Amino acid sequence: MTVHLHPTIDSGVKKGSGSFAGGTLVCKCKDHPVKVGVKGDVAHNHACGCTQCWKPEGATFSVVAVVPRDNVTVLENGDKLHIVDASKTIQRHACKACGTHMYGRIENKGHPFYGLDFIHPELFTEGGSEAPGFAAFVSSVIESGVKPEEMGAIRSRFKEIGLEPYDCLSPALMDAIASHVAKSKAA
Ligand SMILES: [Zn+2]
Ligand SMILES: [Zn+2]
Repeated sequence: MTVHLHPTIDSGVKKGSGSFAGGTLVCKCKDHPVKVGVKGDVAHNHACGCTQCWKPEGATFSVVAVVPRDNVTVLENGDKLHIVDASKTIQRHACKACGTHMYGRIENKGHPFYGLDFIHPELFTEGGSEAPGFAAFVSSVIESGVKPEEMGAIRSRFKEIGLEPYDCLSPALMDAIASHVAKSKAA
């Protein structure tokens, strides 16, 4: 059985150049695509199984990374952007025409990830950004219709391509969240 995770990792994970200086994210519109500039490389790039992240056609997982919000600038056709659901912690700014999520932003200053925007590196016109390093919220794909009995094959495939599958975030990110919570309790 062939397990399809996401088109950019299905034939293996391509390493980043280690010197990615940033680039332009472009939506899927043929006419007047939305263009978003990102300075510098991405961090914490990973495959995500949650139901909120944008995925390309046919993908089971998204591939999503973070960048400092100050490094993100809408360059062209920003009038096509709207917030998918303003009630969500991560406000996803998507193209109204093609549905592609261009960046997800957290406006709650108390949130552990405040200051970071979530972007999909596959939308870069330039290659070489940091490769995905793990898979998060793997069990959540069941909420999108994946059968529980397919999960074994999905987790094995992630391990095969070198991405450790987690059913929450990676230990490093879970530790960062817990540290933030501990600090805000102490304050
Ligand atoms: Zn578009
Ligand atoms: Zn997600």
